[in-house]
Amino acid sequence: MTILLDIDGVMVQAKSWSPAPQHEDGFSMFSSKAVDALNSIINKTNASILLTTSHKNSFSISEWYGIFNRRGIQVGKIDRLPQNQNRVSRYQEIMNWYSKGDHVQDFVIIDDDKSLNGLPEHLKLRLISTTPLVGLTNEHVSKSVSILNTPLELV
Ligand SMILES: [Mg+2]
Repeated sequence: MTILLDIDGVMVQAKSWSPAPQHEDGFSMFSSKAVDALNSIINKTNASILLTTSHKNSFSISEWYGIFNRRGIQVGKIDRLPQNQNRVSRYQEIMNWYSKGDHVQDFVIIDDDKSLNGLPEHLKLRLISTTPLVGLTNEHVSKSVSILNTPLELV
């Protein structure tokens, strides 16, 4: 099981008028509600994280483990989408990942990017769309878990 995870607007509340507080490790602090919610999803599913965030190549994968660990999130596996060299939309990045065909069947997309509302219906069903100012909360946990527990073919 895999969580395609955005960070800004999901783990970090995206407030344009006030930059997110920084951890001493040089990356934004995560919202405590988002940490609780993500931990609940991971604890219930043992899902891995596939970073989709535009920050995905700002750190090495081993640094990402440290970033999540220091924010109280223990995850078995962290990976990321390929570098977005052509600066395509999040929608296109996810479509590229999906059309490569080596994706898992049990995944959820957690993101605040509105371009994802244009995903084909079978993928949109796997989208948890967060409100940028609020981010991920406990209200998203049960639907995320239920999507993860429903492999794609069965939708
Ligand atoms: Mg975002």
